[in-house]
Amino acid sequence: MLSRSLRSLAASVIDFFFPPLCLLCRTFLATPGEQYFCRACLDSFPFISGPLCPCCGIPYVSKHGADHLCSRCMGRPPFFDRARAVGAYDGSLRTAIHRFKYDNRSLLAEPLGALLAESGRQILQRERYDIIMPVPLHERRVRQRGFNQSLFLARQVGERWGIALEAEGLKRSRWTDPQTMLPEKVRLKNVRGAFTYRGPGVMYKEVLLIDDVYTSGSTVNECAKVLKKQGAGIVDVLTLARTL
Ligand SMILES: [Zn+2]
Ligand SMILES: [Zn+2]
Repeated sequence: MLSRSLRSLAASVIDFFFPPLCLLCRTFLATPGEQYFCRACLDSFPFISGPLCPCCGIPYVSKHGADHLCSRCMGRPPFFDRARAVGAYDGSLRTAIHRFKYDNRSLLAEPLGALLAESGRQILQRERYDIIMPVPLHERRVRQRGFNQSLFLARQVGERWGIALEAEGLKRSRWTDPQTMLPEKVRLKNVRGAFTYRGPGVMYKEVLLIDDVYTSGSTVNECAKVLKKQGAGIVDVLTLARTL
């Protein structure tokens, strides 16, 4: 049910502009209601639906029953309050994110940012935060890639929700190996102490952290830890996708 409403929502978001080709499969967008992505690609987006863990947002295989805490969050509660992702890091969504990061930033930043903003409203069931922050990249990584994909997404969400973006306070002060290459246990250690906060302050603030993909959650958790230590009231996390 949720996934259907997200799909129609995503469709109405992408109704706004008129690129003639689907950004994923390059077929012509001829049918009314198709923008950015064709109907087939949009229908194949692996949107996440419940029941899920109300804390880390991991969906359960069984589609029956209510939301309940997963064993991981019960055993070791994360520093963030809630993490939610639009879809699984799979199929057409994975392709779209990959192209956004490595091939065509200018073409995909807006469609994916719009999708994140519109779906994020639904899955977080709130759009009022004091601050929106992107998960920072190390300066060396920004130089390598040319941009921080999370900053582009955070900017889109901030503009659409009318929330101030704070892109400078949270810093990735230590170089870390890419998390995707590492086993989960090592990931935690890899990012420990990697972030610092030197901004105008987050005391009692409600913060929304934005990233492209939630993998083990250790990166966003480390960011949330830093922000909570600075006195942040709430730290929620919104990502386009998560690995399942
Ligand atoms: Zn398509
Ligand atoms: Zn959980």
